[in-house]
Amino acid sequence: MSELYLHNTLTRQKEKFEPIDRSNVRMYVCGPTVYDFAHLGNARPVVVFDVLFRLLQRLYGQDHVTYVRNITDIDDKIIARSKESGESIADLTKRTAQAFHEDMGALNALPPTIEPRATEYIDAMIAMIATLVEKGHAYAADGHVLFNVPSMKDYGQLSRLPHKELVAGARVDIAPYKKDAADFVLWKPSTPDQPGWDSPWGRGRPGWHIECSAMGEKNLGETFDIHGGGLDLIFPHHENEIAQSRCAHGGAPLARYWVHNGFLTVNADKMSKSLGNFFTVRDLLVHAPGEALRLALLMGHYRQPLDFSLESLQNAKAKLDRWYNALYEADKITSETKTVLSNDECKRALCDDLNTPSAIAYIDQLVNQLNAAFLFEEPENPAFKIGCPNNYPANPANIATFKAKILSAGMALGLLQHPPEAWRKWQPAGQSGPTDAEIEQQIEARLAARKAKDYAESDRIRDALAAQGVILEDGPGGTTWRRS
Ligand code: AMP
Ligand code: ZN
Repeated sequence: MSELYLHNTLTRQKEKFEPIDRSNVRMYVCGPTVYDFAHLGNARPVVVFDVLFRLLQRLYGQDHVTYVRNITDIDDKIIARSKESGESIADLTKRTAQAFHEDMGALNALPPTIEPRATEYIDAMIAMIATLVEKGHAYAADGHVLFNVPSMKDYGQLSRLPHKELVAGARVDIAPYKKDAADFVLWKPSTPDQPGWDSPWGRGRPGWHIECSAMGEKNLGETFDIHGGGLDLIFPHHENEIAQSRCAHGGAPLARYWVHNGFLTVNADKMSKSLGNFFTVRDLLVHAPGEALRLALLMGHYRQPLDFSLESLQNAKAKLDRWYNALYEADKITSETKTVLSNDECKRALCDDLNTPSAIAYIDQLVNQLNAAFLFEEPENPAFKIGCPNNYPANPANIATFKAKILSAGMALGLLQHPPEAWRKWQPAGQSGPTDAEIEQQIEARLAARKAKDYAESDRIRDALAAQGVILEDGPGGTTWRRS
């Protein structure tokens, strides 16, 4: 079995991954705050950790991985948006969570094993806060409960920030009732018009960090294997999750491996709502299929910044077109699909800290080989002997092998999940071009024209379709078509 290596933010090193329990590998990734559509930057962690989820399932078995990704459905941004728009919080969070599922589904992200919603875990949050108060790590002040940072001797190990910056980070909500400037909120009071729950400290609502600590504990236990999210979550969110959970659990580590994806950028700036330089997944899906978005996100290594542009999206689409066209041709030669191969270059690349660019290069190479293989179907073809190394494929069985390797690597990356035929016919939503049925009809008309030897008419039909982005391909089996 290949060994998995992951970069651990906690140690700043690439480390061999050793699960606590091989029969139940446990991963928690911070999910969306549901008040608006997800932008492509938000989709980056979803896609990256989906690749890791698929890899863990492949290494440890489908039923031996528990992947938890929460939904934050109580947050000040949600309250503010609801107030602004007049849409109730319940409707807003329900609608946005549903849109998130649709968008991430279009990117071929598998649903996590468990998707806890913060509002369903308020009791667990209150219990954890009470424990922290009891143990002297938290205090109530002015309707709030705060975590007392100096009470934890080794606070700050994940972010390794100097005290000055810890304070600057916590200063976002500076308040007179804080004992230490770095203290952060566990519980805050709600006004009558704000959502709230009864607690030992009055009616209020949880702070953001405690939500993940409680949902992690309830679904994965005190210590689990992997905790993930975007780079911006290291401080304060993950640092504070660690503080809360470890202090509540007698010092037990929260997670053994901390994995963080880099930013998706636009002209080198982080894609974000606040900068306004974002593309929602929803909008992009009008211009490109979800797999093209997904591939665009996987073209760079997950820890590096990745600059996004419509051009990079076009490149991803063109690459997939090439891959699907090769599979389409292979399907004509063999309908066989071999079983998924267990050990290949793709798996090796992904086991090396999720090296997706290398896995993509491997698929490219397989597609090159497959394309070359079509030329050499006959072993007695002299070109076979001249142009090919000894192990060169030359027959349908070999083509089937390439196809299986490509599909297996595609599966590992969550790509090539559509029938090639359907991919070739994809068109942007709202496009005014001819429908599939209209195209089929024109192909019939062209055939009739050719039979009647009216070549001018048959050419006219072909050119008219080409002008509308529909390419006809004549072959021994008849005419097929694809959208360009
Ligand atoms: P937010 O809704 O801002 O809490 O973000 C949800 C998730 O998306 C978190 O894991 C963030 O780290 C991640 N994220 C937000 N913006 C970006 C970006 N531009 N690139 C990569 N990840 C991002
Ligand atoms: Zn979280």
